[in-house]
Formats: sequence, structure tokens, C-alpha cells
Amino acid sequence: MSKFWSPEVRELTPYVPGEQPRERLIKLNTNENPYPPAPGVEQALRDYPADHLRLYPDPDATVLRQALATEHDVELEQVFVGNGSDEVLALAFQTFFRQQRPLLMPAITYSFYPVYCRLYGITYRTVALGDQWQVPLESLTGENGGVIFANPNAPTGHGHGRDAIAGLLDRVSDSVVLVDEAYVDFGGESVVPLVRHYPNLLVTGTFSKSRSLAGLRLGYAIGSRELIEGLERVKNSFNSYPIDSIAIATGVAALADRSHFEACREKVITTRERTRQHLATLGFEVLPSQTNFLLVRHEDYDAGQLFVGLRERGILVRHFNTEALRDFMRISIGTDDEMDSLLEAFEALCR
Ligand SMILES: *Cc1c(COP(=O)(O)O)cnc(C)c1O
Repeated sequence: MSKFWSPEVRELTPYVPGEQPRERLIKLNTNENPYPPAPGVEQALRDYPADHLRLYPDPDATVLRQALATEHDVELEQVFVGNGSDEVLALAFQTFFRQQRPLLMPAITYSFYPVYCRLYGITYRTVALGDQWQVPLESLTGENGGVIFANPNAPTGHGHGRDAIAGLLDRVSDSVVLVDEAYVDFGGESVVPLVRHYPNLLVTGTFSKSRSLAGLRLGYAIGSRELIEGLERVKNSFNSYPIDSIAIATGVAALADRSHFEACREKVITTRERTRQHLATLGFEVLPSQTNFLLVRHEDYDAGQLFVGLRERGILVRHFNTEALRDFMRISIGTDDEMDSLLEAFEALCR
């Protein structure tokens, strides 16, 4: 606390990201991809002329947006890019959700959303998850100044299909519905094809997970032209150049390699299902997942203690110390070898 801080800054409760440890651990705590990015990314980095760094990047990141537009079969003007999808989300909260009526979100979802609400003075209302830990789409239709949820949801892993979300959009048409698709490539169904039918639908995505580029910081939003134009107004009132020229070049290279992308996500999905079955035999309850992580709890062992036991064995997972999630651990899907180490550690800990 400092007297130099603005009053609002004293009131903030910042988001706490998962730890990035200095020691060598098996890192299963922040849902990074265990496989390297597409080989073309490394080539693009090697080929990048350092002299180009004298110049500002293209403020509109046009080649990257065009590559995303082609990938998702939308127009260039329907694509917005930002410095990680966290930045895209922050700009979207400011652009769309500062309304009289409250923002609606599930009670358990990406914990950054309430942080943005506090930053921008947005009132919000949470809605309890369903009995299968699903986002209660039918309850997100009350009076609102916007709706947000992750699909598949984090940290629960459950995802709704496109038709179910279209049903929500049929009932919410006066405010923006933001669907955060950070994990969709690991088995979810994208609602991007719905943007042509619903001008209030904004879909966000990231290169951090399924493209193995968390360190590059690239995220995007897809929606109607009017939504994207709104985001650009705010972005251009804040930072004209959120995407550096190296990120533009490497992002394009990542999108160009479909077979690498498919191979990596299939490996993650296969490893996830194998791990899920094995964890169940060790007495864990494992929620079904359409993501690159598993949310698990053990009926006999305390999650906080298991977290510590794993850490002592060089394995880092995520434990959220909140009322609703205290009994659970969230485990990112690593390589097969990493997951074997995890399972061995659990075998020792849960004896
Ligand atoms: C990881 C994650 C993000 C943030 O992704 P970045 O592009 O790395 O900022 C956004 N939403 C959800 C639900 C996530 O899990």
C-alpha cells in the first residue's frame, strides 16, 4: 500500500497466475503445451531480420489477422488480435461490459473475469454450476449487461456444444455474449461459425495452449464487424502496438502448419484419456475434460497435502484455495513420460 497509488488501485485484488518455478520441475500447473511449437515458428525466428526491429510493427497486425480470418473462415474485419487473450479479454470488458446492468458469469470459471470487473468497476452476478459441473446456460439469460463464460470451461473442463450455445444466443440479444475458447482445440466445439448469425457474439482464442506459444503472448477475438470495431477503438486509445513484429511473423508461421497442430492436440487428448483412466483406478474422481487439463479429487486424501507431496517429488500442479475448489487439483496434460511420473508419485502418496 502506498499513498502514491490512486484510490482505485488500493482497492484492486490482482489475478494470481500459476507459478513459473526456477528449478526444474515437471510443470503441470498452467496448462502450457508440453510439445514445441510448429517447426516453422523456429524458422521464422531464425529468419527474422533484427534490423526490422528499428521500425514499429504494423499497428493492425494485418497479415496475422488475415491468417486467422482464413483459418476461421471469416472476414479480416471480424478479427481482433491482442497481447495474449488476457489482454483481449481486458479490452472486451472495457468495451462491452461497463453497463448499468450486471455482467453474468458462472460461479466457477476463469478467475480473471472478476478481476477485470473490479478493475473497471463492473458489477457482476454469478450463477451456480449445474450438477454435472456444467455451465448453466439456461440461467445466464436473466437481466444482464453482458454474459461471459469459458467453453470448455476452466477449471472444470466441461464444454457445451454449438447448438446449446445458440439456444442461449436466441434468448440474449441485447448484450454481448463472450465465449472464451482458450481450450476448444482439445475436444470442444467452436462457436465461431455462429458469429455470422449473432452480431452480439464475441469469441476469444489464444495461441498459448493448442499452439504451444504461451511465451509469445498472442490472443484474438472473432465477432461481428461492429464488435471488432469497438475493440479497436479502445485498443487504439490505449496501445497502438500490442503485437510486436516478431509475434506477427511467428504467429503466422504457427497457423501455417496444420499437421503439427493436429498431431500435438491429438497426442494431448490421447494422453489425457489414458491419465484419466489411470487416475480413476487410484481412487480419484476425475471430471470429464474437453481441455488439456484434468480436475481431480480423491475421497481419502486432502488435495492440499497431495499438492505438497507432489511438489516434494518435483511435480507442480495447481491447487486453488477457494471454498468451491479446495478439494480439487487441476493437472495439466504433459508428455506421456511426465504423466507416468505423476501417476507413480500418486501411487506412492495414496497408499
Ligand atoms: C489460459 C487462459 C486464457 C489466457 O490465455 P493467454 O492468451 O495466454 O492470455 C484465457 N482464458 C482462459 C479460460 C484460459 O485458461
